Amino acid sequence: MAALLDIRDLTVQYDGHRVLDRVSLAVRAGEILGVIGETGSGKTTLARAVAGLAPVRSGRIDFAGTELTALRGRALRAWRRTGALQYVFQDPLRALDPQHTVATAVGEGLAVAGALAAPEIAARVEGALARVGLDPDLAGRRPGEISGGQRQRVLLARALAVGPRLLLCDEPVSALDASNRNHVLRLLAGLRDTGVTVVVISHDLSSLAGIADRVAVLYGGRLVEHGPIGDVLTAPRHPYTALLAASSPSVRRSRPIPAASLRGRGDRSAVPGGCSYAGRCPFATGACDAAPELSTVDGDRAVACHRAAEWPALVQVES
Ligand code: SF4
Repeated sequence: MAALLDIRDLTVQYDGHRVLDRVSLAVRAGEILGVIGETGSGKTTLARAVAGLAPVRSGRIDFAGTELTALRGRALRAWRRTGALQYVFQDPLRALDPQHTVATAVGEGLAVAGALAAPEIAARVEGALARVGLDPDLAGRRPGEISGGQRQRVLLARALAVGPRLLLCDEPVSALDASNRNHVLRLLAGLRDTGVTVVVISHDLSSLAGIADRVAVLYGGRLVEHGPIGDVLTAPRHPYTALLAASSPSVRRSRPIPAASLRGRGDRSAVPGGCSYAGRCPFATGACDAAPELSTVDGDRAVACHRAAEWPALVQVES
């Protein structure tokens, strides 16, 4: 599968603090990629940088042959009007204008593009609401008059209405109850069949495990592991990924690794320029004072850990 989105050596810095550090990642056309990591890992910054909402210090982002990081002024505005890439914000209440009706919110992108007349926009809005399972009768309501789950689906409908090729969804289910969560996850999974590529940002493995094709794991602003989600979760090669998997009840393994054996004992500290995970890693050695580069393993996977080749024996020997 060809890469629709190609991120190379992306570094984002706020006030001198490096939030994302030389991240390279390709998103293939038609796949669902999960991006996972804890608060401060850089996962939301990655999505925001792709959407042009975070200051890129260095590196480049290419989308379907267009170098987004090189676009400025009129060219950037023209590209944005295509709607090819849509960012779905985490908090619908903040993302939706409280004074706008659902119909206005969903039709916003189409109205801005200026290519369609009002009746066509109304038809597209109705279609987008149906696509996310919302009753067309909600079109006249305002965000404060519908439920949290409905608001989340309004955000998705707004993004889908413009016919995107890529959706960047930032924690799309973190604030939802179980029923709405499952509905939104099924909806995202179904987009694969319609040719829409999806990146789902999440801190929760269980919400990715059932829908994603591949997963990218971020820690401390660096990409530490990525690959097919089944392989990464059942046979992780990075201690942080292994801890995430061991701590998630949704990940089934034939020989589970106890999470306690994956937590560091504080034997070593992370040193500047070294592996950022060293202070938490039970397997750190002197070699980890130098930062590991991301290396390909098993063909379709990549890991940034000096001891990646020692798995799975590593955890059994050292635990
Ligand atoms: S490079 Fe060293 S400290 Fe970093 S994850 Fe691997 S073993 Fe642990």
